[in-house]
Amino acid sequence: MRMVFLGPPGAGKGTQAVMLSERMGILHLSTGDILRENVKRGTEIGKKAKSYMDKGELVPDDMVIEMMLDTIKSGDKEKGFILDGFPRTLYQARKIDAELEKLGLPIDMVTYFKTSTDTVISRLTGRRLCKNCGANYHIKNMPPKKEGVCDKCGGELYRRKDDSEETIKKRLGVYNSQTEELIGYYREKDILKELSGDSDADVVYEELFVNSHFQRRG
Ligand code: AMP
Repeated sequence: MRMVFLGPPGAGKGTQAVMLSERMGILHLSTGDILRENVKRGTEIGKKAKSYMDKGELVPDDMVIEMMLDTIKSGDKEKGFILDGFPRTLYQARKIDAELEKLGLPIDMVTYFKTSTDTVISRLTGRRLCKNCGANYHIKNMPPKKEGVCDKCGGELYRRKDDSEETIKKRLGVYNSQTEELIGYYREKDILKELSGDSDADVVYEELFVNSHFQRRG
């Protein structure tokens, strides 16, 4: 099963991708996570990507496409994957579709997390992440047992630099102008499933699981 999770930042794509990939035994490939890991390690990709990410702008297409293709090619191709936060432009979508087709690994299903701006802003401003294992929390909706400390590994929680109000607005603008048109692109290909990203995580998860199960059998 090969899937794309599409939706604005803060739609819950990452949270759902972690849970679903574990349950289905498939890979979770988050472009944002892979880029942040490169920034942390000080790689060439990381050095080039950092200024775009800090400003809430998209990293150049060809760089991201190459990085994601390399990741897919070097992984277990039998396993299937969830692409989380990729593609984000029509150019990326067309290019990755063509490359995956060549590899005999086309996308089976795209889930669009339709989410209101209010939800997105509240989720992103309250989001906290573990510095050590990357686990996701929210100060109100999904708080850790102990403030500032990860339940899973005891690591320190932090707020992403691009989760400031100003950068969130910028990221939403980028989504509206460059990513939203992918909804139509995948709808035309007849592989788009839509769900409400405003719902609670467990409700979204059930719907997602049913959709992907149905798709796999169908
Ligand atoms: P995310 O963790 O998905 O919110 O992504 C964080 C940042 O990484 C974005 O604001 C972009 O700067 C960069 N990024 C993530 N995915 C992509 C992509 N598909 N294309 C270009 N830039 C991306």
